[in-house]
Amino acid sequence: MKRWVKVLLGLVVVVFAAKYFLLDTAATPDGNYTIDLAALHQAAIAQGGVLPERIEVEKIGDFAFPRKLVVAGDSFHLHPMVQLAHRVMWPDHSLIIDTALGAKKAASIPGSKFHSDAFDRMERAMAKAQAIVFTHEHSDHVGGVASAPDFAAIAPKVIMTREQFNGPKLERDEFPPGSLAQLKLLDYSGLHAVAPGVVLQKAPGHTPGSQLIYVELQNGTRYLFVGDIAWTEDNVTTGRGRPGIAKLLMKEDRGAVAAELVAFAKLPKDVHLVLAHDPVAYERDLAVGLFHQGFTE
Ligand SMILES: [Zn+2]
Repeated sequence: MKRWVKVLLGLVVVVFAAKYFLLDTAATPDGNYTIDLAALHQAAIAQGGVLPERIEVEKIGDFAFPRKLVVAGDSFHLHPMVQLAHRVMWPDHSLIIDTALGAKKAASIPGSKFHSDAFDRMERAMAKAQAIVFTHEHSDHVGGVASAPDFAAIAPKVIMTREQFNGPKLERDEFPPGSLAQLKLLDYSGLHAVAPGVVLQKAPGHTPGSQLIYVELQNGTRYLFVGDIAWTEDNVTTGRGRPGIAKLLMKEDRGAVAAELVAFAKLPKDVHLVLAHDPVAYERDLAVGLFHQGFTE
């Protein structure tokens, strides 16, 4: 066989192998991931105190990724995504879950839209909140804190876990110099209630600091904030997570994520999974009243 034919055949094999392993193949679950709803409920009420009344949501941005990066083996069509921040409300205080990304970072994502009025409301809400927690340490979740106009004022409310703080994907240079040293880090194992009705459970995989945030309202409505473990509900319903390239781009532990997706799929339907970037679920949940649109001033 001529040399150029061998080279060409070799290239074809490499391209197909790369497509198969990097884009098309879903990960196999690595063991079992357990979500014990009875234990989460117990932890939510164990402190006593009033459970939250409602949850508000702000849509801070819109962007899109090729569908192939979102669900292994899917098409190259653009897949719309949203950037959300949530606020858990009690009669006299509040807690913020994820803070989106700042304007500068948003501008660096091609084709993205940044809703500065929503971001400004979120920044004002951070100043008033009792606590700020994160599903994980990526900059599109901690970015609001990183770009806060008065970091020192909100630092005492920020509940960052040690795993999030130490995560290789925490973009340290987005925070003001010296500011990260002001944060008091959270260490916990098992379940940890940060407030009545709000419980953390570690869920490493998408990042080392990923965690579930369980919220139970006074009226018994249950939510499970899963951050970016799933980018679309299709990840949960099909059991197919992001493709292999996610491991290269994000250092994701895909086997751990796949096990978490299996656990999500087994949850009863009245436990509302809250995904950080799914526009379809966002619109549907707003329409049925699971969330109130906009942070009230
Ligand atoms: Zn994200």
